[in-house]
Amino acid sequence: MSLLSASQNEELKELLRSTGAAVLTPDSAGYADSIRRWSDTSEKKAGAVVQVTSAEDVSTVVKFAVANKIPFVVHGGGHSTSGASSTEGGIVISLVKMRRVLVDPSAKTITVEGGAIWEDVDEAAAKHGLAAVGGTVNHTGVGGLTLGGGYGWLTGRYGLTIDNLLSAKVVLADGSIVTASETQNPDLFWALRGAGQNFGVVTEFVFRAHEQKEPVYGGILFFDSEKIAEIVAFLNRFEETSNGDQGIFFGFTRPPFMDKPVIVVAVYYNGPQTDADAFFKPLISLGPLVDNTGMIAYEELNTVFNGGASYGGRKSFSGANVVLPLDVDFVREIYDDFTKVVQTYENVGESLLQFEFIPYKEVVKVPQDATSCANRGRYYNVASAFRWYDPSLDREMRKVQKAMMTKIQQRAGIAKHGTEAKEEGVGMYANYSETDTRASEVFGANLPRLQALKKQYDPNNIFKKWHNLLPE
Ligand code: FAD
Repeated sequence: MSLLSASQNEELKELLRSTGAAVLTPDSAGYADSIRRWSDTSEKKAGAVVQVTSAEDVSTVVKFAVANKIPFVVHGGGHSTSGASSTEGGIVISLVKMRRVLVDPSAKTITVEGGAIWEDVDEAAAKHGLAAVGGTVNHTGVGGLTLGGGYGWLTGRYGLTIDNLLSAKVVLADGSIVTASETQNPDLFWALRGAGQNFGVVTEFVFRAHEQKEPVYGGILFFDSEKIAEIVAFLNRFEETSNGDQGIFFGFTRPPFMDKPVIVVAVYYNGPQTDADAFFKPLISLGPLVDNTGMIAYEELNTVFNGGASYGGRKSFSGANVVLPLDVDFVREIYDDFTKVVQTYENVGESLLQFEFIPYKEVVKVPQDATSCANRGRYYNVASAFRWYDPSLDREMRKVQKAMMTKIQQRAGIAKHGTEAKEEGVGMYANYSETDTRASEVFGANLPRLQALKKQYDPNNIFKKWHNLLPE
């Protein structure tokens, strides 16, 4: 049910009449598409979807919503599975019309509007032989991914996405439009880099770009589960063999042509094919069932997961961490747990569980308190994206998924290995665990400063749908 009256809808339209913004209500053409999200569980019947075209439009909507006490959310790329970018009855500030990207090749910067997806950035940058540290699936939003930290294949060389963020234009809770950078509103800039969703609407990001003229080696391999021991042995040497220009995602899924889960391995090497072949030889020589690897453009690399990460179905994302070396018996146990899930429930084989081996050297060079992101440590993210179709399984799938991630966290992550790694980082990537964690688990020692800044920038806690920093 809409929380806006007919006259409020008219007032909102009137306020935006001279702008390029569109106000969509449930009877408008395009409304159904405007509330669609990556996960069907996040599709909610908004009272109004305002497709804004500028920071000024955003400011108008924020002021209107606050004055009329109507809850609102911000929709970037729409990939969060917690419902953080959708609302039942309230207003969606939709950034989907704000996807412009401007590359400055001489300054090596990329200016990106707040509603862009990574495909927009990858393609614009590639035209100049440049690349940004963005996501590994190119239809995710620049907005949500960046504001929570941001990991991509280039992280091993250049750090997190936020470590390459130079400035941001932000609409705050009072509707004011400000710039945040190391020199302008530095406190806000600190908060934006890890917990940005809680501080306003970012309408423009400026990123540092990196030279990427040559193609990279990458793609996906499937292996039979009998190869677990050999693959784990290969992974366990990763910290000796990698220099920052390599990455490996290792996990489980059940493709439609298999009756049991396979091991899925995504590989990345930023260098010549001969070097990549030598690096991955121990893996390739195990005889994959499917081998889609080869030399491809960097922007193409970020499309190889798109098929498996398609829209449709009910989904949940959850995260954990692991420390190398992995124990092969434990990995077998997780494979068995995953197999049990896909055998027990109908139509869940497209689910994916993966260990993301992206070198952390550059990530931990930045001190834990230099940005609000507290996930900097000598460990690796684990991500699971469960997918199902039957709405009656919503609770059960989330429960099963959380149990599996907790097990990994406790038995193979910093919780087990303790000491040094634990002191460095929380072991929980905010963007992978939106629903099943508390703010203290995600922001650790950075939480008190975040809460103080929150009281300064958003005292009424208007932006609270993503890891609420000030729960009542
Ligand atoms: P949305 O649902 O639109 O937004 C998520 C949150 O951010 C919401 O609270 C929303 O209000 C807020 N938000 C979005 N844009 C803005 C903005 N401009 N200003 C203020 N708030 C905003 N993460 C990685 O780091 N690396 C990866 O390689 C990666 N791959 C992924 C692949 C898939 C298939 C999926 C589903 C997720 C992946 N993630 C990855 C996690 C991803 O970072 C989060 O899902 C993130 O929330 C997506 O942002 P979005 O803008 O698409 O989503």
